[in-house]
Amino acid sequence: MRNVNTGEATIRVLLVEDDREIAKRLGEGLAGAGFSVEHAYTGPDALAFGLNDTFDAVILDLGLPQMQGVDVLKAWRREKRDFPVLILTARGTWSEKVDGLNAGADDYVTKPFHVPEVVARLNALIRRSAGLASPVLQHGELRLDTSTGKASFKGQPIELTAREFNMLNYFMHRVGRIISQNELAEHLYSTDENRESNTIEVYVSRLRRKTSPEIIKTIRGLGYRMD
Ligand code: CA
Repeated sequence: MRNVNTGEATIRVLLVEDDREIAKRLGEGLAGAGFSVEHAYTGPDALAFGLNDTFDAVILDLGLPQMQGVDVLKAWRREKRDFPVLILTARGTWSEKVDGLNAGADDYVTKPFHVPEVVARLNALIRRSAGLASPVLQHGELRLDTSTGKASFKGQPIELTAREFNMLNYFMHRVGRIISQNELAEHLYSTDENRESNTIEVYVSRLRRKTSPEIIKTIRGLGYRMD
């Protein structure tokens, strides 16, 4: 199980693109973003890589020699290879996009593309698939199992009320982001409840007491942030 929030494990990506120049440029961009990249240049090679090796994500050009990208993708999905797949399509070929998505692609980027866009979309896909694959959120020494409602800190179970659990869950999905008291109140209380923002402070300080004072920082005038 990969630790989603700290992202320390190297992320392996299969890049399938027969245009050597594009493959080189994109490969360098991905490596620069910290991915470990494996290249495939033909349909059959891509198929074999995907069936025999494990990847966190795949970038798949659809126009490939010997075997079309869509057929490669269908074959992977038939064999239960469920890694996220980002397809590369030519501009204006909307039917290609539809075919790709129907064959089991998760997202697409149209050529010509900017490398940072591909990197951003790939990161989003990997985050999403990691979140789906594992109901356990981990941040530092804090661990939250969203399927059982159990939480632990430094390996010790911590008792949380439903509202504390919801609040912690909300923070853990937004590590590094400032969250205002209003946003928290909207998330935690249904509209007919009393949304006094000072109750948010109470919950935050309870969470700190049950874990560590540093777990949620107060950002003066703006809200809170989990780092
Ligand atoms: Ca191509």
